[in-house]
Amino acid sequence: IEQTAFQNDKLAMLGKIAAAIAHEIRNPLTSIRGFIQLLKPYLESIGKQEYVRIILSEIDRANDIIYEFLNSSKPSAPMKQTLTVADLVKETILLTESEAHMKGCEFQTEIYDTDISVAIDVKQIKQVLLNMVKNAIDAIQDTGDQRKGLIELSSRKEGRFALIRIRDNGKGMDRATLSRLFDPFFTTKEEGTGLGLSVSYRIIRNHGGMIEVQSTPGEGTEFLIYLPLVEARE
Ligand code: ADP
Repeated sequence: IEQTAFQNDKLAMLGKIAAAIAHEIRNPLTSIRGFIQLLKPYLESIGKQEYVRIILSEIDRANDIIYEFLNSSKPSAPMKQTLTVADLVKETILLTESEAHMKGCEFQTEIYDTDISVAIDVKQIKQVLLNMVKNAIDAIQDTGDQRKGLIELSSRKEGRFALIRIRDNGKGMDRATLSRLFDPFFTTKEEGTGLGLSVSYRIIRNHGGMIEVQSTPGEGTEFLIYLPLVEARE
């Protein structure tokens, strides 16, 4: 227990330092972006529009990484709001289905125990679910074969928890990947930040829940998200 407390202190300290540095890096990035915008007509006039596109998209990528970092290092007490798990799942699908379809993936949804509710920071939990679905899409695209991409989303009551399952038939993970999955900055993707799951883990823990994962290389992955239920009023 002491070890954990110590690690938490270290994490909190690291979070504060990271947030301070991130703020300081953001300002110069913003001015670089502004000046590139000013140079844009000139660079285009000499046929360098491709350079402009790359510079801007790389600046945006750096900004995204910082944004995710700030989000993850904020001590953020969740702003809680009660909603049904069914609505949460439906909303997640609404937000991701066009991208999924575009990338050849199909959703299958099963919502059991339709009346169960959770008290959550909706923005944070949506961020977790979107991240999981995006990872599922990536994993399916990475198989490189012709299989039909399938993302199964389901929810039900499991004791005192709402259980949300996100399962894909993507490339799966080997043991080495599984063991580092939740480490900050661990990624196997060229354009990955490796922050998605470490941030997600933290958000779910802050909500008094937990995340479990099962995966088979070549077959697919399943994430299980548990969130404490709001007890129904008698
Ligand atoms: P990122 O997506 O930026 O790489 P994450 O923290 O979200 O960061 O994920 C870390 C790594 O975990 C990914 O690079 C990938 O190797 C692995 N991973 C996450 N979700 C899945 C999944 N559904 N199927 C296979 N691998 C996954």
